[in-house]
Amino acid sequence: MSLDVQAIRAQFPILSREVNGKPLVYLDNAATTQKPQQVIDALVSFYTECNSNVHRGAHALSDEATRRYERARDVVAAFIGAHSRDEVIWTSGTTEGINIVAKGMAQRLTAGDDVIVTEMEHHANLVTWQQACKASGARLLVAPILDNGALDIDAFLALLGEKTAFVAMPQVSNALGTVNPVHRLIKAIRSRSPRALVLIDGAQGVAHGGVNVVTMDCDFYAFSGHKLFGPTGVGVLWGRRSLLADWPVWLTGGEMISEVTYQDATWGALPHRLEAGTPHISGAIGMAAGIEWFSALDVTAVQAHEKALLDRAVELGEAFDGVRLIGAAPDKIGVYSFMLSGAHPADVGFILDKQGVAIRTGDHCAQPLMKRLGVPGTARASFSIYNTLDEVDAFFRALAKARDMLV
Ligand code: PMP
Repeated sequence: MSLDVQAIRAQFPILSREVNGKPLVYLDNAATTQKPQQVIDALVSFYTECNSNVHRGAHALSDEATRRYERARDVVAAFIGAHSRDEVIWTSGTTEGINIVAKGMAQRLTAGDDVIVTEMEHHANLVTWQQACKASGARLLVAPILDNGALDIDAFLALLGEKTAFVAMPQVSNALGTVNPVHRLIKAIRSRSPRALVLIDGAQGVAHGGVNVVTMDCDFYAFSGHKLFGPTGVGVLWGRRSLLADWPVWLTGGEMISEVTYQDATWGALPHRLEAGTPHISGAIGMAAGIEWFSALDVTAVQAHEKALLDRAVELGEAFDGVRLIGAAPDKIGVYSFMLSGAHPADVGFILDKQGVAIRTGDHCAQPLMKRLGVPGTARASFSIYNTLDEVDAFFRALAKARDMLV
């Protein structure tokens, strides 16, 4: 089955707008995806029909809001294959999810423990662990990558041992699109470092289909709604119930307690013990709508389409004088990170924008990775299911203009 890309595009109102007098070619999907009408409708419907706080009110609107909000949790749990809805913790996004885990680990790590991350981390999965190590005296080890942006598997395996207390790594690199063989790596971690806990940063991996946290066998999986066709400001931390049940609480306040006196408090049960305060109710509902929209697509067709877009970009790039692909790992998703020789990525991005082509330029929140690759930053086109081969062609036509103007 192939994707009906035109039918998909028709569901994204923003894709029919113009930018700078040109049809929008949106190739910044690794930063955030656009939202289908189904998500927009879910948000509007919440605010027009049942806006209310959850769990608090003994009234009809609150009941309806609570029902929609908790149903959203069920949708997420089913989508990632969680054993229990109680393992789905609402967060503000991947960053907060990783912080919940890292702040908790900082209390459990000791000097003599190793924490492993990779050279391809987004700052969200690097700075957090760096700080947890600083606070606890644990050692931070950074698994190297190869020059093509793939993880150096042998070097990664060599870091594992009895001292390994935690491994945090991305399913997919945001800057390069490299896909890590997380199933295989986690198997190796389980056999070589039996006490290690594993967090997978799923921010980029989750929107490409087929995530199952149980078969992956990670301990924590963090992701954001906005990279999955849902709203910003909402995300999910999944964790094993046995770990989350007594994980150090992150925020204290309303909704997460069991009993409170002036001098003391006890914490409530999962999932609420890690969700203090009024949650992003509409965000959770919108995130579930995005997941439901995405889940209706055929995963194999989604992956095949994204691969076709990347293949086209690679083919056009190879024929394009002056373009250097940064990160040509054999297993990667639709991220085309590149340098145009003689031009600064920011200037390339600016000229593309004038032609309606939206890409991202800079360090992609991965400064150490840029240093490792010897580049100041890159220009990055990232594809999603609603992009077309024609848009990839338009991107390279725009790039040819940028080259004419800049080089
Ligand atoms: N990790 C990766 C790999 C990402 O791409 C991102 C977002 N760019 C994050 C973490 C952080 O996600 P958020 O900003 O939604 O919290």
